[in-house]
Amino acid sequence: MAGVTLKDALGRCFRDLRVSVTDRCNFRCTYCMPEEIFGHDYTFLTHRDLLSFAELDRLVRLFYQAGCRKVRLTGGEPLLRPDLADLITSFRTLPDLEITMTTNGSLLEQYAESLKQAGLDRVTVSLDALDEAVFAALSGGYSSAGRVLDGIRAAEEAGLLPIKINMVVKRGVNENQILPMAAAFRKPGYILRFIEYMDVGSTNQWKADEVVPAAEILKHLEKLYSLVPIDPNYHGEVARRYRYLEGEAEIGIIASVTQPFCKDCTRARISADGKLFTCLFAEQGVDLREKLRSGAPDAEINGLFQQVWEQRADRYSETRSEISTAQGRIEMSYIGG
Ligand code: SF4
Repeated sequence: MAGVTLKDALGRCFRDLRVSVTDRCNFRCTYCMPEEIFGHDYTFLTHRDLLSFAELDRLVRLFYQAGCRKVRLTGGEPLLRPDLADLITSFRTLPDLEITMTTNGSLLEQYAESLKQAGLDRVTVSLDALDEAVFAALSGGYSSAGRVLDGIRAAEEAGLLPIKINMVVKRGVNENQILPMAAAFRKPGYILRFIEYMDVGSTNQWKADEVVPAAEILKHLEKLYSLVPIDPNYHGEVARRYRYLEGEAEIGIIASVTQPFCKDCTRARISADGKLFTCLFAEQGVDLREKLRSGAPDAEINGLFQQVWEQRADRYSETRSEISTAQGRIEMSYIGG
């Protein structure tokens, strides 16, 4: 299977794998893991449920043979999984594999250096506000913007560059943070991405009128800055890129609601308990852990992935308006954003 290019039913190549290493998080962001659902009595996956590092390593090697050239470690909060650097060290032996991670940044100050040493290429940090009250309103009151900024600083010092900052914009909550965030991260080595609030999972009570569309986010920015659109870095990049006319810095906008990008989607996802998903808005996954733990040979697992990908026709964001119910969609905290 080595060196193949797998194409799905819509002609999209497989290239990116998002690997959730835990379903737990130390935040309770309202758009992802609302406290009222993920409270103290919520049953998270047990350690035995989670794929071990050996199982994750085997899977990533098989996906590498199937064309994977970028692995993004996610969660929940991936840095809650102990010894994550060891997993990165094992992935690092695969040539031309880009290894990135999305984190809420609250533990980054502690781990940035060891992650870099292990071979992590770069990091994406979720930060929705600089104002502590607004930050708390979105994070569920856990940690602080200051703590996340300390983590970002540590990532810069460790050389995990460029650092991408993901800001989810929710109407009536943090639009007033768009310009302060732009000012804070308008510098080399940083790319601030504004994300349209999405109806991920089935628990965040998403409403279309709480979405701040990409066009409106640009209007906010253009009050102070001149921006020019620039080409994507690679086929399938989710963010639309804009460069500030003055200076070298750039921003991105991830507009899954108003400017869907399904036609170029090259991503597959693995949940922390080893299920394969072909869309962020999927309702069902394919159990690969059972195959791993029942001694299935590589060829069987490869064949299963090939079959799943080649039948893939997901394009949820393009069909969102035709879909009436939110019920049944997998939670983002379970399969990673
Ligand atoms: S909605 Fe699904 S198919 Fe569309 S871009 Fe997102 S993950 Fe890909």
